[in-house]
Amino acid sequence: MLGIRTVGDLIKHHPSRYEKDRGELCLSELPKNSLVSVRGMVGATRPVLRARKPRFEATLQGILEGDSGRLHLVWFSGGYLRTMIHPGQILRVQGHTRRHLGFMQMVNPKWEVLPPDHDKSVAPRQERLRPVYPAMEDLPSERIARIIEGTLPSLLPQIVDHLSDAERKLWALPPLADTYRMLHCPLDESQAYHARRRLAFDELLLLQAGLCIRRHEARDCVRAPNLRTTDAIDAHIVARLPFVLTPQQRKVINEIRRDLSSSSPMNRLLQGDVGAGKTLVALYALLAAVASRKQAALLAPTEILAEQHAQTIRSMLCGSNVRVDLLTGSLAGSERDVVRSRVAKGEVDILIGSHAMLSDDVEFNSLAVLVIDEQHRFGVEQRAVLRKRSERAGGCVPHTLVMTATPIPRTLSLTLLGDLDVSTIEGLPPGRKPVRTRVLPPERAGDVYEYVAQRLSQGDRAFIVVPRIDDRSDEEADSLPVTLSPGSPEDMIAHTLDPASHGVALRDVGSHLKLLRDTWLKGFQVEAMHGKLERAQREAVMDRFRSGQTQALVCTTVVEVGVDVPEATLMIVENADRFGLAQLHQLRGRIGRGDRPSLCVLLAGPVAEDAKARLSVMAETNDGFLVAERDFAIRGMGEIFGTRQSGLAPFRAVEFPRDIDLLHLARRQAREMTRQDPELRAPGRALLRARLMKAYGAGLGIADVG
Ligand code: ADP
Ligand code: MG
Repeated sequence: MLGIRTVGDLIKHHPSRYEKDRGELCLSELPKNSLVSVRGMVGATRPVLRARKPRFEATLQGILEGDSGRLHLVWFSGGYLRTMIHPGQILRVQGHTRRHLGFMQMVNPKWEVLPPDHDKSVAPRQERLRPVYPAMEDLPSERIARIIEGTLPSLLPQIVDHLSDAERKLWALPPLADTYRMLHCPLDESQAYHARRRLAFDELLLLQAGLCIRRHEARDCVRAPNLRTTDAIDAHIVARLPFVLTPQQRKVINEIRRDLSSSSPMNRLLQGDVGAGKTLVALYALLAAVASRKQAALLAPTEILAEQHAQTIRSMLCGSNVRVDLLTGSLAGSERDVVRSRVAKGEVDILIGSHAMLSDDVEFNSLAVLVIDEQHRFGVEQRAVLRKRSERAGGCVPHTLVMTATPIPRTLSLTLLGDLDVSTIEGLPPGRKPVRTRVLPPERAGDVYEYVAQRLSQGDRAFIVVPRIDDRSDEEADSLPVTLSPGSPEDMIAHTLDPASHGVALRDVGSHLKLLRDTWLKGFQVEAMHGKLERAQREAVMDRFRSGQTQALVCTTVVEVGVDVPEATLMIVENADRFGLAQLHQLRGRIGRGDRPSLCVLLAGPVAEDAKARLSVMAETNDGFLVAERDFAIRGMGEIFGTRQSGLAPFRAVEFPRDIDLLHLARRQAREMTRQDPELRAPGRALLRARLMKAYGAGLGIADVG
């Protein structure tokens, strides 16, 4: 559906492009073999139904002054037109002209019947841009154009601008009514350009203003516990950590300390490439809460990752009296109740969990710090849910740290995360050897696994990633539902190609495991790992892999994020063309964590162009920021941005990267506007505020109640 219900919707339906109508041609002077659009009156019509090729024919007579030309129209299989096209009607037709038996002819032209009084509204010989609208079968572009053209004159005077004359002048923008006129009936290209620019600016301005309001609400309207990390506390926490902090980690930790010591809540995004060492920073933030006798929570996107975090953090805190608990969806009901009640009574200091933690029945006693690990998508729901929860509990919201290894292209972060402060860990901890990446055809798999076997016998460990669990399952994005992961179902679907079309079978964990055990990896411990394993099994497998008892895992993308086994140095991805770029980068991030040289092999059959582009980016660079920018370039905004997930209305006019300058302008202006009037309550802003709320209020979670 186009979502058009009212006339108002209709004028917001943007043309997808414009076609240039040349000044209207006389039928007597039509050029042959060219695409033209002309008007004329229907002379004779003739259905020719019994011919070898049944068709409907009509002649069109010139209606412009002095035009005695004729045009023959033929529609093959056009018998149905009998009841629609009649002598005397004025038609506009568009198609390719050709000369046939001495006559000018058009075959299967697009056509529309013009209303009898049409020539008053259209200046016949004037050159103009004709808007082409995204259409549906029963509402073709021409009809949309006609309806809009018809209603525009009465609508335009009713359009009220939400920007003042002074503002428009300052930013060189046309008034809103003119904008819609120029959008739908531009006299020239410059008008179409300015109309689109104004509408794009508005979209960005409203979103940015919305973000400013949200920022204001999140900071100035609520309190967070004041967590002072004195130098003594700092020293104490640092002593607990297993590594000397890198200068980059220290820098970020200092930023976080500053945030925590304020009673307005921290809203910080920590970005750092895969393997940059974000976990240590997270742990610091968690312990800062515990040091003030408050609770902290760590939310992970997958159960495996939650389990791993629980394990690492418990072992780091071993010997201290910090109480750590794990809450995941696979806990049995009774276990879950126990954890829940401990959390509510304040008997847990650090709760680590997956989505289960967000469920309504989990109440914290004194949540002061919330860390969300590996949030790649920009959904704000998780943050919102937990904050609301604790707001209810104590009138206080926690300090929030969101961590991501999918560096967000700057454009996007400005667009959607304008209310977050951003910290970045640049580079990787010392002593890392860069991962080498090769893209190879499936025929080379034998060589690859021979090499893997050789490396395994030298004490290395390998991940072998395949797209499916078994040969019946759909391709799976194992890494858990909804908004958290770039390996989410949308991502997979976006890159799903029909396996048959490329003649490359999709590997699955079950049969690939068997194949490897029977052949190249015979004699090694190889195990399966995927999201459908029971929790206990999963933990046991990971433990054996960590300890080296198991040398290779055949797995799904369940290992995509966060899994940290420094001895793992080999990553083989089967059917690599199935995976998105961000996902491949995440997968590759599982290796190269120790000081041994690591190799990532992407096996892919003959693949489509965009898959080829993705794979070659992987071979070219290890730099996550570069990968993200290239991903952005290949997939465009909608995909990465995931507007659907974030609940924000998609842009109609804005297009990146074209509109980056406008984004900066809009951002500056939104800040300016909200500096004095943080919620835009001034009477002069009522309309702007109302439009903002309508477009983004719900998505941003700032809509007025009632
Ligand atoms: P990510 O940013 O992807 O979450 P991790 O926190 O898992 O990265 O860290 C990646 C690896 O780097 C881990 O093996 C971790 O132990 C190691 N590491 C983290 N910080 C340091 C440090 N300061 N010095 C040395 N190694 C570190
Ligand atoms: Mg991590």
